[in-house]
Amino acid sequence: MSSVIVDSVSHKYMVGDITIEALHEVTLDIKKGEFFTIIGPSGCGKSTLLNIISGLIKPSSGRVLVDGNEVKGPLPGKIAYVFQAPLLLPWRTVLDNVAFGLEMQGVKKEERYKKARELIKLVGLAGFEKMYPSELSGGMQQRVALARALAVDPSVLLMDEPFGPLDEQTRLNLGIELTRIWMLTKKTIIFVTHSLAEAALLSDRIAVMSKRPGRVVKIIEVNDERPRDPESPQVQKVRAEIWNLLKKYG
Ligand code: ADP
Ligand code: MG
Repeated sequence: MSSVIVDSVSHKYMVGDITIEALHEVTLDIKKGEFFTIIGPSGCGKSTLLNIISGLIKPSSGRVLVDGNEVKGPLPGKIAYVFQAPLLLPWRTVLDNVAFGLEMQGVKKEERYKKARELIKLVGLAGFEKMYPSELSGGMQQRVALARALAVDPSVLLMDEPFGPLDEQTRLNLGIELTRIWMLTKKTIIFVTHSLAEAALLSDRIAVMSKRPGRVVKIIEVNDERPRDPESPQVQKVRAEIWNLLKKYG
């Protein structure tokens, strides 16, 4: 587990002679082991923010600290990233996709397969080890991507609308599974979504962002026991609060 501090991060993209201000002075203080969600309208800079946290892009100003150390580039093994598209290697089986990061780290075959099998089981895919990505549904492919991200035992897991393209039912089910995995593995999770239901169901805290240039308009704390019921009064109240903020600032 790690803490993540986003300290007054702003970002501008230059496209020819046009400047696009994507983020405006975003500050977040994410605790060790927290399930922290970022929600905001499309184009408000959510992916930009995750890319900055992961060290893939350098902010125009401000900085990110992981466990007190400034992020100056990608930290494979410490920060893992799950994207909206599962980005699996089509010529590799489920087992070899999950073991990929460990293989890159030079972990021996027997050991990486052992670890990969444990994670495949954890994400509910036991029995599918020898299948290829094209033989799996979208939800199952995203489970493989999650297992692959967890395989290197990162302390921070970044997830960018990971269940975005899936239907509502699959998505909420995966969300509930993710809560279970998060409770077992105790990762710090920074989760981006545009779904109010997902945000209210999964998070300890939710940062609601304005439209571009994205800034944080409010941080909502969800005080509700897990596992949560999508229909519980607390979850409904949080959804309504996000909805009102997005209406005002989105
Ligand atoms: P979100 O993930 O919230 O939808 P993004 O972070 O992808 O938003 O994008 C924020 C803004 O920055 C958008 O207006 C987008 O068009 C712009 N943008 C994103 N990436 C680039 C890039 N590589 N070059 C120029 N503009 C970009
Ligand atoms: Mg995005």
